[in-house]
Amino acid sequence: MLTDYHVHLRPDEREATAATHFTAGNAERYRACAEEHGITELGVAEHVYRFAAALEVWEHPFWRQWARDDLDEYCGFVREDTDLRLGIEADFVPGREDRMRSLLEAREWDYVVGSVHFLRDRSIDTEDYSIWGTGESPERIWRRYFETVAESALSGMYDVIAHPDLVKVWGDKAPRPDKDLRYFYEPAVEAFAEAGVTVEVSTAGLRKPVGEIYPARPYLEMVLDAGCPIALSSDAHVPEQLGFRYDDAVGLLEELGVKELAVFERRQRRMEPIG
Ligand SMILES: [Zn+2]
Ligand SMILES: [Zn+2]
Repeated sequence: MLTDYHVHLRPDEREATAATHFTAGNAERYRACAEEHGITELGVAEHVYRFAAALEVWEHPFWRQWARDDLDEYCGFVREDTDLRLGIEADFVPGREDRMRSLLEAREWDYVVGSVHFLRDRSIDTEDYSIWGTGESPERIWRRYFETVAESALSGMYDVIAHPDLVKVWGDKAPRPDKDLRYFYEPAVEAFAEAGVTVEVSTAGLRKPVGEIYPARPYLEMVLDAGCPIALSSDAHVPEQLGFRYDDAVGLLEELGVKELAVFERRQRRMEPIG
């Protein structure tokens, strides 16, 4: 069995509206592409900030630019017009946990994917509002990033922690700390184990400047030593990205002795053999 849970039904473009992409036909295209890759457990996890309700949680100008759609219509569409699992990619916004928790608890998800894309009001992975080039040292950015990821896990709001070393996304295009990176991973791994949360292995990093799976191998080894369950996803934004370079990911998991993947239904996790 293979999963792809961290999946977007549309690209990160303003023109990709709910009306054009939240359709049964589009969901069928995703299902067909997933089948070609042997992915039977397929779910969607749209960005929370594309929904108007997200502005009750945070009013960052980036979110204000994007927040258009109706969250309940999205949930209704996935449940009624598709056979996909219903998820959401919900940013962790420190200090706004109660608001995000209310938004999430008001709906019945199969799973909630937690992401850290921002450190306070600065973005890790977009050119707009970028944290890079603000004069903050890479050591400090990396430390703050992994501490925030740790906090997100301990918040208990999430079933899966997404792309857990997104901070590396720019590869050589952003400065990196000199230290052994395991120093930065440590607090995050401890938090994952304490929270009992599932950690995402994502092939999306292979499409980004860094050209590497999230998480990096030494980080993944620490996650596995700590006994954390693994979820496998591509973070696809178009059907053709489903199962993107899964051979690499499955090969890595096999090498590290991972035999099962996390499967979710109504926020209950069970483990299924990889196949
Ligand atoms: Zn993300
Ligand atoms: Zn995503």
